[in-house]
Amino acid sequence: MAARLLDGKIVAKQVRESVRLAVEERLAQGLRRPGLAVVLVGDDPASGIYVGKKRKACEEAGILSKAFDLPADTSQAKLLELIDQLNQDEEIDGILVQLPLPDQIDENAITEAIGPLKDVDGFHSVNIGLLTQGAPRLRPCTSLGIMRLLAANGIDIRGKDAVVVGRSNIVGRPIALELLLANATVTICHSFTRDLRARVEKAEILVAAVGKPGLIPGEWIADGAVVVDVGINRTNDGKLVGDVGFAEASKRAAWITPVPGGVGPMTVAILLENTLKSAQLRD
Ligand code: NAD
Repeated sequence: MAARLLDGKIVAKQVRESVRLAVEERLAQGLRRPGLAVVLVGDDPASGIYVGKKRKACEEAGILSKAFDLPADTSQAKLLELIDQLNQDEEIDGILVQLPLPDQIDENAITEAIGPLKDVDGFHSVNIGLLTQGAPRLRPCTSLGIMRLLAANGIDIRGKDAVVVGRSNIVGRPIALELLLANATVTICHSFTRDLRARVEKAEILVAAVGKPGLIPGEWIADGAVVVDVGINRTNDGKLVGDVGFAEASKRAAWITPVPGGVGPMTVAILLENTLKSAQLRD
C-alpha cells in the first residue's frame, strides 16, 4: 500500500492564511502591525534563499518585515549592537538571525542576546527551558511545524513509539521535546547510537533530522509508520532529497513527508505565527 503524503504546502498555506486574518483583525482593533527583523550575515546562497522566502511570506501575511543584510566580515560586537537596538525597537516583535553565522561569531552568544519575548526562532535558553518543562511559550519553528503537520492530518501521537534521528538544538532536541509533550515515548538517536537500524525498525513515528542522503534506507521503515523527513540534501544532479529512501519507504509507511514540500514550508509558516504571538505577548 502506498503511503499518504504529509503535504506541508497545503497545511502551511492554511497556517499563513490564518495569520493573515489575525493580523487584519489586530489592525481593525487599532493594534500594532506585527514586525519581524530578518538579519542575514554574509552571502551563503542557501541562507539567502531561506531569508528571501521568509521576507516574502511576511509581506503576504501583512507582517512588517525589516531587512538587515550585513557583510560576511561583520564582528560579533557589531551584530550584538544591532540586536540590542532591535530589542528596544517598539516596531519589532520578532528578531530572526539566519543561521549559520560566519566563524568569527559565536551563535550561542547571539541567540542568548535576543530578548526572549522577541525570540521567534524559539532557540533562547528561556524558551527551550519552558518547552522542556512542558510549558512552552515561543517554540522552535521546524519542530512546531512538524507537530502542526501531524495534527492537521489527524495523526495520533499519544502513547506512540517515536524515534528521532539527530539531536541538534535546531531540530532534533526540540522535536523530541514536542513529541514528549504530546505523550509519545521518545527515543533520540545520534552519531554515537549503536544499531540505528534496530531503533528505526521499531518506530511508529520516525523523524529524520541529520542531513545525510540515504542514511535511512526505506527497507528499515516499519509497516504503517509515520515518516517525517527533515533532511534537505542536494544530490549531484541538483535534486533535493531527504535522509530517508523515499521510494521504498513510501511502500511501507502509512504517511510520509515529501522532500521538498513537507517540513520546509511549515517552518516558514510557523515563523509568521510566532511573530504574531510575539506581538500578542508584547501588547
Ligand atoms: P546538524 O548537523 O546540526 O545535526 C545533525 C545531527 O545528526 C547531529 O545531532 C548528529 O548527532 C546526528 N547524526 C550525524 N550522523 C549520524 C548518524 N550516522 N546516525 C545518527 N545520527 C547522526 O543538522 P540540523 O541543523 O539538525 O539539520 C539536519 C537536517 O535538517 C539538514 O539536512 C538540514 O538542512 C535540515 N533542516 C531542515 C529544516 C526544514 O525546515 N525543513 C530546518 C532545519 C534543518
